[in-house]
Amino acid sequence: MNVHDSERISGLLEDAGYVRAGEDDDADLVVFNTCAIRENADNKLYGNLSHLAPVKSQRPGMQIAVGGCLAQKDKDTVIAKAPWVDVVFGTHNIGSLPALLDRARHNEEAQVEILDSLERFPSTLPAKRDSAYSGWVSVSVGCNNTCTFCIVPSLRGKEVDRRPGDVLAEVRALVDQGVVEVTLLGQNVNAYGMSFADPDQPRNRGAFAELLRACGDIEGLERVRFTSPHPAEFTDDVIEAMAETPNVCPQLHMPLQSGSDRILKAMRRSYRQTRFLGILDKVRAAMPHAAITTDIIVGFPGETEEDFQATLDVVERARFSSAFTFQYSPRPGTPAATMPDQVPADVVGERYQRLIALQERICLSENESLTGTEVELLVVADEGRKSAETRRMTGRARDGRLVHFAPGDTAGIRPGDVIHTVVTAAAPHHLIADAGVLSHRRTRAGDAHEQSRTPTTAPVGVGLGLPTIGPPVPTPATAAAPASAGCGSCG
Ligand code: SF4
Repeated sequence: MNVHDSERISGLLEDAGYVRAGEDDDADLVVFNTCAIRENADNKLYGNLSHLAPVKSQRPGMQIAVGGCLAQKDKDTVIAKAPWVDVVFGTHNIGSLPALLDRARHNEEAQVEILDSLERFPSTLPAKRDSAYSGWVSVSVGCNNTCTFCIVPSLRGKEVDRRPGDVLAEVRALVDQGVVEVTLLGQNVNAYGMSFADPDQPRNRGAFAELLRACGDIEGLERVRFTSPHPAEFTDDVIEAMAETPNVCPQLHMPLQSGSDRILKAMRRSYRQTRFLGILDKVRAAMPHAAITTDIIVGFPGETEEDFQATLDVVERARFSSAFTFQYSPRPGTPAATMPDQVPADVVGERYQRLIALQERICLSENESLTGTEVELLVVADEGRKSAETRRMTGRARDGRLVHFAPGDTAGIRPGDVIHTVVTAAAPHHLIADAGVLSHRRTRAGDAHEQSRTPTTAPVGVGLGLPTIGPPVPTPATAAAPASAGCGSCG
């Protein structure tokens, strides 16, 4: 979400006349788009700001802006700690950044603007995309859940869903520019349909499954992924839509967080272990080769050895292809931060090592089971440091696995192209395919990458669906979208 917001910030600034600084150029403007999820985000920010203070004093006219979740959380504190910052903007008003920069320059004083709720849906802002072949598309922002460890609801606000027609128009706009892979983004993506901003858009529990099926009708779109769903709201219609829509990838990120029912309750996560494992069984029955990944927090307040053992048991049974594992640390402002029975750091660390050891073993054995199988790869850039030493290139399989492959004597393979190869070896976090390339398909995405062209998307949609006064706002991509998007909910 944060990375995609940065694409919006780039698009907005380019629209306002700014040009990206070259690697060696001294930038006239530095924007920090901060994230408050990980520990120490504030130390990193203030450290970076301190480094920039002398640079700025040597460079008259230079501006520094701080946005994102940490800005939303810290508000005036940013300027108090780093008075040389020119603009502080929050998660709800990215669109104000160019105006705030102008105002700061004109008034010669710092501008802080933090709104409590969303001003405009981010997709009503232009975006400058990072990748020629793969794009993010937000379906919603915010979250209506109240997980006790999570700072997101207080910084990103309540969930707001976009109209399906707007989402599909943005997907089409990307595909028209050569993009072959799209990831639908939402804090709780499968709650999509219950919080439409547009009052004329009826609430629809089946909206996310319908959206996936509608993506299946988009010519040229080869891969559809989504992140992140919530186990409590993950319904069978989504599993059916995944299995029956050929361009939806056999990959699912399903955050477990804990395997202990008692801890899940304390986390205010409304599913239990049995339900979680039941979802995985259903997904694998419908898509036997689906790769399922997860998030796990170790050492949530009150976690006993028995609770942790329950997590290990679920991990053993779930056979995740990979897991993002976190040692719990309190986030000020969240209910869990002040819960009694915080687990001592050494206990958390020791449990964490056991979890890692187990998951690494599972990752390796799952990956080894793929040796000898044929995989289709979307060739990617800049991932996998192996390439320089071994001359291997890197691609993503349909199930999301990273594969380092030897191109052999196949010439002209570019990021964005699609190849087929055979897996010859496995490691816990990647596969190797050293037997050469079976087939290579040049794509428009590969052409765009070769020419250093990345897509831009014009504003899509009309804000939050609220009535406006004055002439209608033009909505280029929406207007260009055919009415029959294949989704029953398209408005
Ligand atoms: S569902 Fe995800 S984003 Fe929402 S509160 Fe829970 S952890 Fe945070």
